[in-house]
Amino acid sequence: MFENLSERLGGVFDRLTKQGSLSDEDVKTALREVRVALLEADVSLPVARDFVKAVQDKATGQAVTKSITPGQQVVKIVHDALIDTLTGEGEPGALKIDNAPAPILMVGLQGGGKTTTTAKLAKRLKDREGKRVLMASLDVNRPAAMEQLAILGKQIGVDTLPIVKGEDPVAIAKRAKTQASMGGYDVYMLDTAGRLSIDEELMQQVEAVRNVANPRETLLVVDGLTGQDAVHTAQNFDDRIGITGVVLTRMDGDGRGGAALSMRAVTGKPIKFVGLGEKMDALETFEPERIAGRILGMGDIVALVEKAQETIEAEQAEKMMKRMAKGQFNMNDLRMQLEQMIKMGGMQGMMGMMPGMGKMAKQVEEAGFDDKILKQQIAMIQSMTKKERAAPQILQASRKKRIARGSGMEVSELNKLLKMHRQMSDMMKKMGKMGKGGMLKQAMK
Ligand code: GDP
Repeated sequence: MFENLSERLGGVFDRLTKQGSLSDEDVKTALREVRVALLEADVSLPVARDFVKAVQDKATGQAVTKSITPGQQVVKIVHDALIDTLTGEGEPGALKIDNAPAPILMVGLQGGGKTTTTAKLAKRLKDREGKRVLMASLDVNRPAAMEQLAILGKQIGVDTLPIVKGEDPVAIAKRAKTQASMGGYDVYMLDTAGRLSIDEELMQQVEAVRNVANPRETLLVVDGLTGQDAVHTAQNFDDRIGITGVVLTRMDGDGRGGAALSMRAVTGKPIKFVGLGEKMDALETFEPERIAGRILGMGDIVALVEKAQETIEAEQAEKMMKRMAKGQFNMNDLRMQLEQMIKMGGMQGMMGMMPGMGKMAKQVEEAGFDDKILKQQIAMIQSMTKKERAAPQILQASRKKRIARGSGMEVSELNKLLKMHRQMSDMMKKMGKMGKGGMLKQAMK
């Protein structure tokens, strides 16, 4: 359960947060307990092991941010690593359903919430994206299940394929496809039959349906309360059918964070949605931050660390302003500026935010001046020695060659960077000389 993992980690970090500094041994002890906690929360062993290793790599050698304790810092690192593991590619909840009619295959065990989720998702696509959706039940063994989908369809205003007695699942899938094409539907959803456990017959049936439907998305619906079993189910379906995403249901209850974590790590497939109740609108996109927050239950520490990091950045910026006002603007300052630019979404992002600059942002993008260039410039600065960074005027041909080689760039690129730096520091000198009412001094107040 979420609480278990959260309490467990809470205990570990309580101890750490009470200490002034963190030794290697402390990090190891803490992470050993993190691993036990993850295992207890039903995270599979290899996943827990990898997770802990990732955290250890990040924690080791990381400078501890001033004004927070090392233990708090570890919490933040664990939190970020959880989000890393949980995050899939692309927009959360995005589905590949462009070429109409796009088939979505819904698979899973009986009772996992497959039929309910089919209807919830159909409603979501209709309401939020204006899609015309057709739903079809393929559960020929359970007439009640077919009936259930028809009732839900009426309730949410989504069409269902008429039930024809005696038809097999493959025939139903074919009929759904024809009807979807002829009826001008954007999406058709195939709600396959479930069984209480995975068996060969179920898999063969789903496979046959998959082969005729050629689905754009194959979503596995699993009960988030079943922990490790859910992970086995996911692995089985992925090996055999090939899934494109997971929907975790019953996350309104005491769902285990562990299931989400290992399912993501084991299958590599994104968790796209979570079911949060029986009602038709109780389906939300999966948000790694929220699950990580729930697993850790230490949101305020994470916020505190973020705040502390911001404060430190602000202090550094103020120091830089002071130096700049005195006409001292070195390569370290330039690097900080470049990093800041990347953080703010690069050139385009910054310009896009300024009124009237939208068009220029586009031109910048077209000219290929993006984060890549900023990163290359930072790499060149990183290849300089401490002395060179403080006084770039000492850079002669041989030094330039070494720096270019070290950063995988051309000397001409380095020259461009140096020119930019010269122009910027000239400008800053001028601004600094503007006396008491100078712009920088004004800005610093
Ligand atoms: P299927 O056999 O996989 O098609 O499962 P159903 O869709 O029939 O769902 C089984 C039961 O679980 C129904 O009573 C649903 O209302 C319920 N259910 C489905 N999703 C959720 C959810 O996210 N939260 C809760 N609390 N109940 C759910």
